[in-house]
Amino acid sequence: MNGTAGNVLSTVERHYKDYGLRAKELGNEGKKVIGYICSFVPLEMITAAGCIPFRMRGDIHEPITKGDTLLETIVCPFIRSCFDLSVKGTYDFLSGMVIPHACDSMVRSYSVWSYSLKFPYFHFVNIPTVCNESSLEFFNAELDTFRKSLEDLVGKKITDDDLVEAIRLHNENRDKARALYEFRKEDPPLISGTEVTMVLTVGSSLPILESNALFDEVLIEIGQRKKSPLTKGPRILIDGACVDNFELVKIVEESGGNVVIDTLCNGTRDYFPHTDVGEDPVKALGRRYMEKINCPKTYRKNKTDTFEGDSTDRFGDIGAYAKEFKADGAILYVYKYCDPFGFEVPARKAYYESINVPVLHLEDVYSAGTIGQLKTRIQAFLEMIG
Ligand code: SF4
Repeated sequence: MNGTAGNVLSTVERHYKDYGLRAKELGNEGKKVIGYICSFVPLEMITAAGCIPFRMRGDIHEPITKGDTLLETIVCPFIRSCFDLSVKGTYDFLSGMVIPHACDSMVRSYSVWSYSLKFPYFHFVNIPTVCNESSLEFFNAELDTFRKSLEDLVGKKITDDDLVEAIRLHNENRDKARALYEFRKEDPPLISGTEVTMVLTVGSSLPILESNALFDEVLIEIGQRKKSPLTKGPRILIDGACVDNFELVKIVEESGGNVVIDTLCNGTRDYFPHTDVGEDPVKALGRRYMEKINCPKTYRKNKTDTFEGDSTDRFGDIGAYAKEFKADGAILYVYKYCDPFGFEVPARKAYYESINVPVLHLEDVYSAGTIGQLKTRIQAFLEMIG
């Protein structure tokens, strides 16, 4: 996927709107494109096998219909939308799919996905929800099982060298994404949140080398910008799970806010943690995916005896991001039936209060029909903190 110099963002927009355009081409050429959901799937393993990891997304504009005839409606609307698109054939170009042990919406629906969709390959990556040495040992064995399943699919061994190279490429990808966030530190930011959502979303639909090349082109194009596409306004942190459609961010930006940072699964949660290099690659992957991704699905032992201490320990990254990117306020955006994030709302709100960052909590159902209704509340919030 090549953007002509000077217009890479319009290429990004095309691939964002026609999501999976490049992956479909590659699938039709006989390449093995492996779909995945959630930040807990070790992409390096898929790349090392010579396959293409493809982040599946939902579509807030597409009513969930066929999917709901097969999947219970108490599954979160994000998963229901991804599943609905899948049963309608949007992702028929995939050779397989991987679902991790993240939240109940994924774990409990795995059998329905694997029964309803006729992909030749399906794998469930069992990631422990408790962080300690024995769970790491268990997870390393799980990673070996994942490795073997991919080896069976492609008919060749995945060597440690393959893994080391894949780790290098994915770390490079994360560095480039982080460099993109640097442009958001300007006031107003040199890149809008809407653009960042599109770039990162499209980046996760491409083979890693193409994704790296795309990020390089975007970095050059934004670096040459003389003027921000936004006007100065309250700087906003978006806190939540997977926001892979830009409408929420767009509403904030059209209402005069600047989205400058996030904690999202398709944002910092996924792109900021690195895999360590120099040690056994499987162990290094184990540590990254089990310990470094800060998601409420993971249980971390309290380290202090106080609520304030534990809250800082649990949510310290939010405070650090708010400080680094000079956020004036946060929007805590949670999907209905998303239990991991839903259960944490009171504790997150208390943490925001403790760091003096005003927060607006919104619950939504992953639908273009409802997201517009949030505008009035977002405008009122921006006025209040502006
Ligand atoms: S939004 Fe929540 S419930 Fe849905 S997949 Fe993500 S973590 Fe799970």
